[in-house]
Amino acid sequence: MASLRIGEALREAQQRLAARSDSARLDAEWLLGHVLDLTRAQLFTREQQCLSEAEWHRFEALVQRRARGEPVAYLTGEQGFWTLRLKVGPAVLVPRPETELLVERALAVLQGRAAPRIADLGTGSGAIALALAAERPDATVVATDADADALAQALANAQALGLTRVQFRHGHWYEPLRGERYDLLVSNPPYIARHDPHLAALSHEPLVALSDGADGLRCLREIVAGAAEHLEPGGHLLVEHGYDQGEAVPALLAAAGFADIRMWRDFGGQPRVTGGSMAQPRV
Ligand code: GLN
Repeated sequence: MASLRIGEALREAQQRLAARSDSARLDAEWLLGHVLDLTRAQLFTREQQCLSEAEWHRFEALVQRRARGEPVAYLTGEQGFWTLRLKVGPAVLVPRPETELLVERALAVLQGRAAPRIADLGTGSGAIALALAAERPDATVVATDADADALAQALANAQALGLTRVQFRHGHWYEPLRGERYDLLVSNPPYIARHDPHLAALSHEPLVALSDGADGLRCLREIVAGAAEHLEPGGHLLVEHGYDQGEAVPALLAAAGFADIRMWRDFGGQPRVTGGSMAQPRV
């Protein structure tokens, strides 16, 4: 096996991963690129290069773990999100491309607003808070999480990216924001219902980051309900939600007194982000 070439190794891994992953080729490329410290383009131009036995063993071990369902991001320890490379481990949800829609809508809301104050609730890897901080150097960004391990991961990302202005605070949703108001509240909370069959395929990621243990709307209700107390007049709330919550979440915002309520679909055409503004927040 010591003479296995890059091209062969990739083809073999792709075949083994096909049953488990619908991006088997890409997964194999990310994993081998990680082992060899090469980009995917570099792999492509070195198909004939032989792997050493040690490299082959390391690749083999990663392919086996991927075949058992571990996300590629946990195996390589990183994931691209927006313009950033984030470190991710099993304490945090792997940032999804759908969540970039939330970042995009947040930047649109902030346009023309100088030095905005932003809070990200349940920040996980820090993906949303860090993307917004990177785009808006004039913003004050605070990110909360109830999980200390997730916060440590987010903090490590902030430091690695030099985005040390972002403040990380430990606590449940608004708990660490007592008495404070923001121009924009953003969140990608756990929104998968307890009995949703999709959870089975996500078993390597932290369940508390995926499911609310209830009907899928429990955390979204808490976040919407607490928003008025933490928004400046005219401030906005933007939340990510499930594909099947495109009516329920706008209704929650309406019931809480939000105006200008809008729902956006992700690139797959699924309802994914809802936002609204609060003209006169409660005192
Ligand atoms: N979008 C994720 C998924 O369905 C869930 C993220 C979340 O619960 N916040 O895989």
